[in-house]
Amino acid sequence: EEATTKPRRVLLKLSGEAFGGGAVGIDTQVVRRIAEEIVPAVQRGVQVAIVVGGGNFFRGAELQQAGIDRSRGDYMGMLGTVMNSLALQDFLEQEGQATRVQTAIVMGQVAEPYIPLKAIRHLEKGRVVIFGAGAGMPYFSTDTVSIQRALEIHCDEVLMGKNGVDGVYTADPRKDAGAKRFDTLDYSRALVDNLAVMDASALSMARDNATPIRVFGLEGEGNVTRALVGERIGTLVSN
Ligand code: UDP
Repeated sequence: EEATTKPRRVLLKLSGEAFGGGAVGIDTQVVRRIAEEIVPAVQRGVQVAIVVGGGNFFRGAELQQAGIDRSRGDYMGMLGTVMNSLALQDFLEQEGQATRVQTAIVMGQVAEPYIPLKAIRHLEKGRVVIFGAGAGMPYFSTDTVSIQRALEIHCDEVLMGKNGVDGVYTADPRKDAGAKRFDTLDYSRALVDNLAVMDASALSMARDNATPIRVFGLEGEGNVTRALVGERIGTLVSN
């Protein structure tokens, strides 16, 4: 009798900053490379859902500093995440990978609306599902949405792909040569020490629901595939 193993299902969070390659707009070379690294993991049976940030276009808090109403700025930020989602969808489809974008703000010509059961169905069929427009609500972040979506569609792990850093460190490794990387870390220490995992509301939601988070570096060839298939790279944040 053969044991039926449940396929691994993960939520990959990609920051908008990575998509921009450090500038405003989309660095197609970066997005193409990430797409190329997602496909082999799907081919190995991993179910991949993705939340993309929008910091390469707009952040509501920054627009507020420039005099724009916070909520309106946040909606601008959410729309930026949709552009990133479409760019990633395109590169995935170019690789022959079936993909669906589901947005938290309804825009019928562009994407499906967010329907959790349908998202699960897509994943079971081997489609990559990209969640755009964040939570559809101002004052939220795509980090929080990553935890929420992972919980709602029953992901085993949230994978936080970071730019310029390959895990969680005792201090900012770009400023402090003595900074050490954690292999594992608990939620409370990450929160209390304000370590660079994700924003505090997202992290406390993860802690409340015991959602495992792996923080890893997007740079370095093959890292995205490694994280998706479950290699122990970067830092695991859990209880
Ligand atoms: N945003 C929002 N609600 C959400 C998700 C995002 O208002 O549920 C807005 C917010 O203004 C945020 C911007 O969209 O600054 C871009 O998202 P985020 O900053 O999380 O992207 P990242 O930093 O990962 O690139």
